[in-house]
Amino acid sequence: MNEVSHSLIALAKTLDLRWQNYRSSGEFDQFVEFTLLLNGLTERLNQHHLPGLAGACQELENRALAFFTDHTLRPVSDEQAEGISQQLNVILQLLHRHEMPAVMAKRLSDATDEERDPWVRQRNVLIVSRPGHAWRAALIEQLSFYGFRPHGIDWEETPEADEEPLAIIVVPDQENSIYPQHTLAALQKLRARHLASYVYCLSVPASLEAIVTLQRAGANVCIPAEYKLSDMLSRILDLVESREQETYRVLIVEDSKTATAHIQRALKLHSIDSRAINTPLSLLQACADYRPHAILMDMYMPFCTGVEVTRALRQIPEYHAVPVIYLSGETDIGQQVEALRLGGDQFLTKPANPIILGAVVKTKIDRYRDMLRSGRHDGLTGLLNHSASKEQLEQMLRRALPAGHLTVAMIDIDRFKSINDNYGHPVGDQVIRSLAWLLRGRLRNTDLIGRYGGEEFIVALSGVDADLATTLLNRIREDFARLPHAHGRGALRASFSCGVAALPDHVTGSSLIEAADEALLQAKRDGRNRIVAAGRQQQEQ
Ligand code: GH3
Ligand code: MG
Ligand code: MG
Ligand code: MG
Repeated sequence: MNEVSHSLIALAKTLDLRWQNYRSSGEFDQFVEFTLLLNGLTERLNQHHLPGLAGACQELENRALAFFTDHTLRPVSDEQAEGISQQLNVILQLLHRHEMPAVMAKRLSDATDEERDPWVRQRNVLIVSRPGHAWRAALIEQLSFYGFRPHGIDWEETPEADEEPLAIIVVPDQENSIYPQHTLAALQKLRARHLASYVYCLSVPASLEAIVTLQRAGANVCIPAEYKLSDMLSRILDLVESREQETYRVLIVEDSKTATAHIQRALKLHSIDSRAINTPLSLLQACADYRPHAILMDMYMPFCTGVEVTRALRQIPEYHAVPVIYLSGETDIGQQVEALRLGGDQFLTKPANPIILGAVVKTKIDRYRDMLRSGRHDGLTGLLNHSASKEQLEQMLRRALPAGHLTVAMIDIDRFKSINDNYGHPVGDQVIRSLAWLLRGRLRNTDLIGRYGGEEFIVALSGVDADLATTLLNRIREDFARLPHAHGRGALRASFSCGVAALPDHVTGSSLIEAADEALLQAKRDGRNRIVAAGRQQQEQ
């Protein structure tokens, strides 16, 4: 079963149903339900890295939201409703078109069939430029290395009706100047044809007029003229990165049952998990058990006020930064300012509009997670850092033991010091980033990829034995050795050596790392640019 696409399709069906309900009943409540679901769908599409489709959904959501605030627009006129119906149909059709590749991709990753290769990502990227533009060739070369399927077309050309491109990259004829009319026309045509794709426009001058014009024509991202090709690649890679996200968890501290029910219902519609307590006295225990990403705090409760509770919570280092959102009937501005000053993040008046509540909670959690993330991730590559890698390995190990497969690989770039010495530190940095991208582009989302040290990486593949891991990493090793890295005078090539160790030969995180490190040293001694598998640990002794 494919949970991803099935849940999306189920959501789309419900959305359609809600809309039909509203059309037949004309009740505004139904309209609200429809908008809420739409909001949930937008969120899901973003999670599944279908940003273009998410954008289309968001547009419809905004259109629907206008009816919330402007009472003069109600009831929704037939003409308006017809417009919404049409926009909704386009989205539903696109979703169904997406079902197929998604189902296939999932099947590939579940494949027992040896010929199927879950590590190959089939991601179409369309590059639009004048024929023979030098950037086109360079982009095609680089993107193919990182596991994409790039394809160049000319301005007037219509792309073949293949699978929807993930991204469209527009390369202007002239750098750093206003896009001419024929370019904008081509962009508009592509946008209309590929509503779900993410459109990047390169070398856009720093002028508001230029950017607004491109956005109107359908651009999602305008890359400034001074950006290098590598920065642009990193943005596309970020886009397709779909690391697993934990579900949002919200703790509700509220003494009124009705208010709690209302809040929990609103959160559920946003796919936010929640738990409620009706007295602040059990707050610390609930925090310890449930580990919330945010707390929704009632202002007035028996024993103490929300502000007092929050102040107490902030004394505990673990909860120093967890977002606290106050809910209250309070309209007194002075009180609200005081509450915020004393450690709250936001104030919402009860009963909160469910869409605003969901949006506020998500924004706060996202920001909080970004903050937590920055402590776990490496700035240069965006990969997990040394200590976070070790933690994640332990988690993977717990899941794999006692009988599953897990392989750890230590990877170290060969003669890296001489790259720094000959071409300078920034070129060295770029080589490190390229290897990070290559690993990200080629391995699965569930695999661990970390920057273990300067030019050393750690990889852990679950459900994979040492032989399969060696085959996979060998392919990456060969491609890395062919990958050109630009420097001031041309391009250089680099290589890496790798050591692998696997369950059940080694059964703890540190022994896996140690054994893989030993094997890596052996690979260096054997002449570099190769992979060595660790021997079995001596069982008898
Ligand atoms: P070997 O093939 O044996 O691995 O040789 P090597 O030159 O790669 O080995 P060594 O470990 O001696 O050199 C690693 C160098 O990497 C030393 C350090 O200056 C450099 N380095 C570490 N971190 C960074 C970084 O973030 N950026 C750059 N540009 N260089 C780094
Ligand atoms: Mg109360
Ligand atoms: Mg090295
Ligand atoms: Mg090293």
